[in-house]
Amino acid sequence: MAAPSEAADVLSGVKEEKLDGEDDGRKAVCLLVLGMAGSGKTTFVQRLTAHLHALQSPPYLINLDPAVHDVPFPANIDIRDTVNYKEVMKQYGLGPNGAIVTSLNLFATRFDQVMQFIEKKQRNHRLVLLDTPGQIEVFTWSASGSIITEALASAFPCVVLYVMDTSRCVSPVTFMSNMLYACSILYKTKLPFIVLMNKTDIIEESFAVEWMTDFEAFQDALNQEQSYVSNLTRSMSLVLDQFYSDLRVVGVSSVTGSGLDELLVKVQEAADEYDRDYRPEYERLRKQLMEAESQKQREQLERLGRDLGAVRMTPDWLAEKANVGGPSDLIMTRGIRDLDDDDDDDAAADGDTDDVDHSKVEESKEKDAFGNFLRERRQVVEVRNRKCRSPDAP
Ligand code: GDP
Ligand code: MG
Repeated sequence: MAAPSEAADVLSGVKEEKLDGEDDGRKAVCLLVLGMAGSGKTTFVQRLTAHLHALQSPPYLINLDPAVHDVPFPANIDIRDTVNYKEVMKQYGLGPNGAIVTSLNLFATRFDQVMQFIEKKQRNHRLVLLDTPGQIEVFTWSASGSIITEALASAFPCVVLYVMDTSRCVSPVTFMSNMLYACSILYKTKLPFIVLMNKTDIIEESFAVEWMTDFEAFQDALNQEQSYVSNLTRSMSLVLDQFYSDLRVVGVSSVTGSGLDELLVKVQEAADEYDRDYRPEYERLRKQLMEAESQKQREQLERLGRDLGAVRMTPDWLAEKANVGGPSDLIMTRGIRDLDDDDDDDAAADGDTDDVDHSKVEESKEKDAFGNFLRERRQVVEVRNRKCRSPDAP
């Protein structure tokens, strides 16, 4: 168990800054909370927030789940203030999953504003917590997830928290599936990684930790199962040995709050690892992107901006000429806002994004395709509405 003083290391400096108003130059650490639906991401963010408040170091909170009904923590930035998920379903004729992906894509086009807020507010917050949509693949396998992750990681120390439901890992086969998924996310996000074994109030994480550290123990558990899958699992466990050896694992209960101090120590270690091993790579990537930014990319982004009507990437005279309808105000409001922000002059708050840093916006091809996708969906909905009005129409 970590000593509380150790645990608080990642938080140190906040109070002093508040008192003397000086910045020690340390960047806020962004924690990207990922995990399967129901693993307990939102409950965990809520619990960690309460814990950090008790340590007098409130985090900066961002909700990226457009479909959540109630956000049980005081989100500074909430995707639901910017994108109306229900309207996305209606206007683009999408089902719940398509609408979540589309909402996140729409939000990603404005992520530069979120970055400005974090940059501005980080002096008062050591940690930035980002809760993600219920279904993990919406974030990990979408262009917008990559855009958001890379934007954050190129500017702040960034750590992935992979939340697992420990009570659903008691079978060695499900445990292995979960670990393979964790492994794929590690390679996808290319960031320091912590496995958070949640719900330890239901079952202690020790059995899973033993399976990761003691190969024989895992084989014994597997011997109870007789199936093709268990043979495959046996082979996979050999493959994952290296993955386990470098992995940070911590058991937490988001209901009782146990294990959170230990987690904060791991977060500090992971943030140090980011500085040591990842930052140089992200800085190189950022520089490369800035150098490689071509006229074609800029044109694609401008076209997307016109399609979406979301982020003004064009000068005024061009925006006036480009009379192309984007998402209506019902779907997207003009700007992202921080609920606590009281600075009226802030560019991010009033939606003024003329100085968009194009280098932060990647995967322009996907964005281009996304613009086309929105246009096509609109047409489908229009045709469907026409048919509803006059069923005999061709
Ligand atoms: P998400 O989809 O990953 O955001 O999951 P939620 O935070 O909505 O949690 C899903 C369910 O798991 C809810 O019913 C929570 O109350 C429950 N839950 C979350 N964390 C814990 C925990 O540590 N212990 C127990 N017993 N239940 C939890
Ligand atoms: Mg949730």
